[in-house]
Amino acid sequence: MPTIAEREATVCFNTGKRFPVTIVRGEGSRVWDDQGKSYLDFVAGIAVLALGHGHPAVVETLKSQAAQLIQVSNYFYSVPQIELAELLTQVSGLSRVFFCNSGAEANEGCIKLARKWGQTEKNGAFEIVAMEQSFHGRTLATVTATGTPRYSEPFQPLPDGFRHVPFNDVAALEAVVGDRTCAVMLESVQGEGGVNVPDPDYLPAVRALCDERNVALIMDEVQTGFGRTGRLFGFQHSGVAPDIMAIAKGLGSGVPIGAFLANERFSVFQPGDHGTTFGGQPLTTAVALSVVRTIIKEDLPAQAEAKGERVRAKLRALEDRHPQIVDVRGQGLLIGIEFDGEIAGAVVSACRERGLLCSNLKPTVIRWVPPLTVTEAELDEAAAIFDTALSAVEPAEPTRSLSGTR
Ligand SMILES: *Cc1c(COP(=O)(O)O)cnc(C)c1O
Repeated sequence: MPTIAEREATVCFNTGKRFPVTIVRGEGSRVWDDQGKSYLDFVAGIAVLALGHGHPAVVETLKSQAAQLIQVSNYFYSVPQIELAELLTQVSGLSRVFFCNSGAEANEGCIKLARKWGQTEKNGAFEIVAMEQSFHGRTLATVTATGTPRYSEPFQPLPDGFRHVPFNDVAALEAVVGDRTCAVMLESVQGEGGVNVPDPDYLPAVRALCDERNVALIMDEVQTGFGRTGRLFGFQHSGVAPDIMAIAKGLGSGVPIGAFLANERFSVFQPGDHGTTFGGQPLTTAVALSVVRTIIKEDLPAQAEAKGERVRAKLRALEDRHPQIVDVRGQGLLIGIEFDGEIAGAVVSACRERGLLCSNLKPTVIRWVPPLTVTEAELDEAAAIFDTALSAVEPAEPTRSLSGTR
């Protein structure tokens, strides 16, 4: 009998390495594999499962909405879509929303909206200034916006009009934003790029520059949204507001849904400019409505902030015993741990063997993104597993840190 890994290798595109685990069941912050072994799930579907596995707000809403109505298309009105739009505009301070199915699609919509605005309101300005080490998705435009060239290079020629500057560097941004620029695009904390938290005065300075030079500020809150960083949206830490925002991941806590929003000034789409078959349908919007209401009602952003602070302090306390740890950083429950050598893959494996799932973002950085509903006991358990896992991993040759920003 071939294993599932052998069967996968026969029939699926090989687009990346999978961890050698077949997950068959989940509950809260825990999953079980096909051998019955349990793990703390600090991948959480890649920062998707805000409410963890099997939360009744998701499961009960999915069941009842599936029985009532799944899909109608956007030729018709549906109540859950409009209710979710009302809630999202209210909590974000933005005025209009378009629903789609993923983070990449949400960013693609942001890019199209900013381009349309540049074309009609700023003399054809079309350039988007994005950040090095950013991640915005895998469609042709979003992979071009993404600041990791190796993701886009195989697909040349790429769409025109994207440039990149270092994150957390106001002077570099000032040097390139001009008459041709329609938007600056960034994450409030870079997730995939290594959990890079900008200085507190960075986003206010970016906001001021965008105002001064008349360009849209697009914030990609796909990973940082919905409580992950300790606020409902990551931008709320710095007191600035985006003009255009992409969301996805935690919004559906497991159902595929994304959206982009804009303030009135940048809401320039007209009939025919954009569309979708699956976006905004009753099933996913009903679940997202229930998820967002739960996040707010249970004050999960504040919980994420407190739990994140506490576990980062615990992890920092390990630095004495494990000098391989050179930085513990993050916001809320978006946590990055950096090592002084290329041991992240080995640490992830050692954690997995001991019952903790997490992932490595680069050879020197691992990420923890547990469900926001994770308990303090589970976080303590994970810290203890991490401690023993690190002891089991041989220190590697120190290398210079790859992440330029904190
Ligand atoms: C995951 C992610 C995306 C892409 O989302 P998909 O749903 O995989 O298309 C875009 N931006 C950020 C910041 C992300 O973390």
